[in-house]
Amino acid sequence: MLVFKFGGASVQDAEGLRRLLRLVRTYGGDSLWVVVSAMGKTTNLLEQVVQAVRHDRWPEAMELCGQIREAHLERIQPLRLEVDSRATSPDQKNLEQVLDTWMDRLLEELRSLRGSQLSYNCFYDQVVGYGEILSTALVSAYFDQNGWGHRWVDARDVLVTDATWRDARIQWEPTIQRLHEVHQEDYRNQQGVQCVLTQGFIGRDRVSGLNTTLGREGSDFTASVVAHALHARELWVWKDVDGVMDADPRLFPMARLLPSLSYLEAVEMTYYGATVIHPKTIQPLQNKGIPLRVRSFLHPEAPGTLIGGGENEDQRHSCVIVKKNQGLLELVSKDFSFISEEGLSMIYRALYEQGLKANLARHTAVSFSLVVDNDPYKLQPVQEALSPFFEIHLTQGLSLWTLMHQSDKMRRGFLSGKQWLFEQHLNDIYQYVVVE
Ligand code: ADP
Ligand code: ASP
Ligand code: MG
Repeated sequence: MLVFKFGGASVQDAEGLRRLLRLVRTYGGDSLWVVVSAMGKTTNLLEQVVQAVRHDRWPEAMELCGQIREAHLERIQPLRLEVDSRATSPDQKNLEQVLDTWMDRLLEELRSLRGSQLSYNCFYDQVVGYGEILSTALVSAYFDQNGWGHRWVDARDVLVTDATWRDARIQWEPTIQRLHEVHQEDYRNQQGVQCVLTQGFIGRDRVSGLNTTLGREGSDFTASVVAHALHARELWVWKDVDGVMDADPRLFPMARLLPSLSYLEAVEMTYYGATVIHPKTIQPLQNKGIPLRVRSFLHPEAPGTLIGGGENEDQRHSCVIVKKNQGLLELVSKDFSFISEEGLSMIYRALYEQGLKANLARHTAVSFSLVVDNDPYKLQPVQEALSPFFEIHLTQGLSLWTLMHQSDKMRRGFLSGKQWLFEQHLNDIYQYVVVE
């Protein structure tokens, strides 16, 4: 079987939905799981809804929900009259009705959560996954409208996680079991089912039964979990770029396609911040030897990038990775003492509790510096937790450049005209904290 994953960019408009159906029909084969994330920038809007509700700004929350509905309506309106002659499904539903049903459920959920005692991160997980529910409900209705037999599966019923809100960990044993059960049911018992359609990014906490999310951009990881559990032949992620390139083509228009990568290279690139694939995606595939294809939904006939197709594990491509919007957090012990292991564990715990990662760390005698994503909602609680013990200084407006496997000359070329606060390197991986 195959697993396909379609991200927000691939379903951001009516043409995206038409294309998704075409790609599934053309390339899908007879045993396929399709994982879809939220349409366009819906998750960002839902994050704003969460903020508004938590700060008791109810009218603003309603206004944002109105924007979410409008944006989806715009996407589906051109599709309303496109009923295919093959559409025979008795439960064929009007796309607009489907949208309104799920929007009503979102509003109901928000009303019932308003004033709840849930922690911020737990509350967040109850709300932001609605983007995926909306998008797959609409894709499902569009499939029905076009006679494409499929089964809509609620990912929360199959992806069993722990309760690490906003960064939930997969509970592998029950997840594999649930995925197998659903897979067997589909292809044995249901006539006319051509694929299973489900959401990326969301799961359910095994203990509390509450919704969880796997971390922003986590739908690639969902697809990888499904591929691992069901021993997929391959996982294909459909993107708005030709494949994995030696730099982000949005920042470097001269970036070149990398036709093949080993799992190790892909893991390194995503670890240092190549956002084309979520960093957790590679491991479950590597463990089962399942190849990952990164393909362009705009040029589906092009081969894209093949990861883990048996390349030489020692091969290294040179590439550039830029993480924008970084902050440098400098911590100095208040009494001029060394920052001991105890101090370090306190610092890392504060980061962990906010779901922040140290993208780079540097230790000196009495200070410790960390480069982190500059997210004020997460950094403020970290600063509050650590300020009784350390003098803290935050420098904003930075980016973290990682230059991998480049010659001195190439590095000089990339950095010309740039100013950086400091650099670190290990073998031929060089990192620079650059002033934006
Ligand atoms: P999805 O729609 O699946 O969420 P993303 O938008 O997260 O997809 O990933 C695709 C984007 O990743 C591209 O538009 C591109 O700007 C960015 N990107 C960053 N680094 C790279 C890279 N090395 N190669 C290709 N694309 C990259
Ligand atoms: N919709 C989620 C996000 O925007 C998950 C994903 O797109 O992968 O982060
Ligand atoms: Mg993404």
